[in-house]
Amino acid sequence: MTPTKLQDRFGRVINYLRISVTDRCNLRCQYCMPLEGLTFHPKSEILTFEEIVETVQVANELGIDRARLTGGEPLVRKGLPELVRMLKRETDLKELSMTTNGLLLARQAEALAEAGLDRVNVSVDSLDPKRFREITRFGDLERVWEGIERAAEAGLTPIKINTLILRGFNDDELDRWVELTLEHELVVRFLELMPIGEGVRLKHLGGFCNLTERKEELIERYGLVPDRPERGNGPARYWRVPGAKGLIGFITPISDKYCDSCNRMRLTANGELRPCLAYDVHVKAGEAIKRGDRRAVKRAFLQAAEIKPEGHHWEVGQTTRTVMSSLGG
Ligand code: SAM
Ligand code: SF4
Repeated sequence: MTPTKLQDRFGRVINYLRISVTDRCNLRCQYCMPLEGLTFHPKSEILTFEEIVETVQVANELGIDRARLTGGEPLVRKGLPELVRMLKRETDLKELSMTTNGLLLARQAEALAEAGLDRVNVSVDSLDPKRFREITRFGDLERVWEGIERAAEAGLTPIKINTLILRGFNDDELDRWVELTLEHELVVRFLELMPIGEGVRLKHLGGFCNLTERKEELIERYGLVPDRPERGNGPARYWRVPGAKGLIGFITPISDKYCDSCNRMRLTANGELRPCLAYDVHVKAGEAIKRGDRRAVKRAFLQAAEIKPEGHHWEVGQTTRTVMSSLGG
């Protein structure tokens, strides 16, 4: 059977699902989660692995064939390799990846690769251990690098590193990251801060850094040429220093908006379908998922596509209240 396409009111085809497997995390990155005061979804509302698989099967019928596991921190969810195995066996996903903070990756990389995970993105906001701890509040950079090495050995490649750049905090590290790609097969992606949740209140750690401007400077300094990674479904645009083993990516939601090519939908840990990061609009599919009502789940996907906004307005001062950790990034 040819799958129906999931299309929104603006003609964008949605073929990519970000699956948040938990809203909990073992870090408290300053731009993402407050130190205290967050309430988490009760355990009874969290989708089980079977329910996630069934939801992805419905998504498959609508043409969604790529997915990413995220969180909170996906690796704090017990037994995650088993979910990977189930998704690879029981759904028609052509590609399954994961975004992680890397703290628990060394221990699980091999099991994840064996279960069929295709690749990982690891968030690393600084090359300096002290700064890394400051921004993440509890992070241990050495453990994260160990995780990256184990993931590379396990074949979860190309490994992409997400590094959120803040003006006056870590924007002096851009050159070091570029130089790291000369000898390493890493894809280093620079991210602009989005005014979501804690991201709105970050002034004390430096603020928004315009990465379109910084890209121009790097092109000049290193002679970067456009390139593309083997695989990629997202908004990043890629460049390479001629002859370098790795790539540099720029994710610029504010300085170079890409909403018109958005192909994604988000499934939260408690079964909400969220069509856009910038707005609180969502469809509650949790109950339908939990009672196994596939037709209702399909309707929820169609409805979520129908209410997908045209784009954010962060560039003119819009902010988004929901914390990022419950959305999955
Ligand atoms: N815990 C995992 C991690 O840190 O990679 C996955 C979830 S995290 C919410 C996914 C991504 O969202 C991370 O790369 C993080 O840097 C990014 N993120 C969180 N808050 C953000 C914000 N306000 N603006 C831009 N990116 C943000
Ligand atoms: Fe946790 Fe990821 Fe948010 Fe950091 S960015 S607090 S690691 S969910």
